Amino acid sequence: MENYDIAVIGSGPGGYVAAIRSAQLGYKTVIIEKYETLGGTCTNVGCIPTKALLDSTHHYAEAHHKFNEHGIQLDKIELNFSQMYKRKSEVVDKNTSGLDFLMNKNKITRLRGTGSFINNTTIKVVHETESKEISAKNYIIATGSKPSTIPGVEIDKKRIITSTEALSLEEKPKSMIIIGGGVIGVEMAAIFNRIGTQVIILEYADHLIAAMDHELGKNLQKILRKEGVDIRLGQSVYKTESSDSAAKVFFKDKNGAENELESDYILVAVGRSPYIKGLGLENTDVQLDNRGFIKVDESNRTAIPTIYAIGDVIGGAMLAHKAEEEGVLVAETINGQRHHIHYDRIPSVVYTWPEVASVGYTEEYLKKNAIAYNVGKFPFSASARARASMDTDGFAKVLVDPKYGEVLGVHIIGARAADLISQGVIAQEYEVTAEDMFRISYAHPTYSETLKEAYLIASGQGAINI
Ligand code: FAD
Repeated sequence: MENYDIAVIGSGPGGYVAAIRSAQLGYKTVIIEKYETLGGTCTNVGCIPTKALLDSTHHYAEAHHKFNEHGIQLDKIELNFSQMYKRKSEVVDKNTSGLDFLMNKNKITRLRGTGSFINNTTIKVVHETESKEISAKNYIIATGSKPSTIPGVEIDKKRIITSTEALSLEEKPKSMIIIGGGVIGVEMAAIFNRIGTQVIILEYADHLIAAMDHELGKNLQKILRKEGVDIRLGQSVYKTESSDSAAKVFFKDKNGAENELESDYILVAVGRSPYIKGLGLENTDVQLDNRGFIKVDESNRTAIPTIYAIGDVIGGAMLAHKAEEEGVLVAETINGQRHHIHYDRIPSVVYTWPEVASVGYTEEYLKKNAIAYNVGKFPFSASARARASMDTDGFAKVLVDPKYGEVLGVHIIGARAADLISQGVIAQEYEVTAEDMFRISYAHPTYSETLKEAYLIASGQGAINI
């Protein structure tokens, strides 16, 4: 039996960050991963490969639609689909080998295999025919999530696929129906629409990215429709069928009118559920909630004080940076430190173009809870930086407390919104006022000036450039 201070099960952004922080704090740490590469969903089939393809297809779309106006003339613009996917895989490989390096650098033992609890204090790690027992003073479960589906929709991984299969297609699909207009659905729609796949999104809600401030979804919807994505809202899918060469989807609108469509692929993007298969939780006293997520307290402790859980497997925002924060929190909690994650200050981002990013309260939330607020909204079309780069779609919107000027929410759709949002996170974390935010100097010309103008408007000062 091998003994460790901390055993981390799963090597996604939650697990590998937890392992590194544990090792930095001097703990003898082991990380257990059932796949050959480290990095989990995010690095292998999530954040990183999607962003690589979003970048490639963005360049392709820019070459088509903007280069001429920039005065750049190319004789022929051709897409080499397999090269685009090859580059995506190389980006993933660089990141996974970077993680190998970090494990070695921090002297973290790495074990390949499925970690499975034998009881509350011991696990076995099984890989093919080999099995090894391990005991650790503390365990951190970071086993992530897997794609969910809806009744009547069976993912066959051939014609009815998830984002995972879409990231390893061999040729460009002619058509694709995406069930779900959430973050993963719209990112996938952007990737394939830009390269000429005929894309239809079927979404049950009345908005895309419905969990975010609704104005963002409405604006994104307009932009994606203008680019050719067929978006059908208020549609309830109840059945799919597939053959060797195509797939069919059956759906109803809110009035019960039935419809069906066929395409090369149906991509199911209706959310993700916790992954606990093979973990042996039935041999422990760890509790699950009614949706199958592992129950934890505010320090991410399960019902067993020496077993912690982090990331997608405990639910909440299924985001890599949320999992990372929890990884650090748990390692530091084991170390006797106390800190706290402000879950309401975790930003959400959609990497379409323009990007969409959000932190804090939405207008819908403030209205529903009768919380007074002022709005400051500034369009990218009035930003000198956005005009220079021809990225004039979108706006920056800030929601501010009318009495004290506290920043309640920041919602951006526009160029580089993913990077701009960190400013909103700082504003909320340190409870600064809108006035603090517009009194500071913003470099000119930058996209960030849209935020300064939005804060000016929300404070009743009036914008300078509109
Ligand atoms: P995971 O990353 O899922 O890792 C869990 C790991 O545990 C896996 O490697 C799994 O093999 C391993 N494992 C499971 N069970 C066992 C076991 N018993 N023994 C050993 N190993 C085990 N989030 C963002 O913040 N930004 C994005 O841009 C973004 N884009 C995304 C795009 C897509 C297409 C998808 C699907 C997700 C995206 N996400 C994004 C979400 C993000 O990937 C997840 O929130 C994040 O990966 C969760 O991290 P985790 O550590 O909890 O689990």
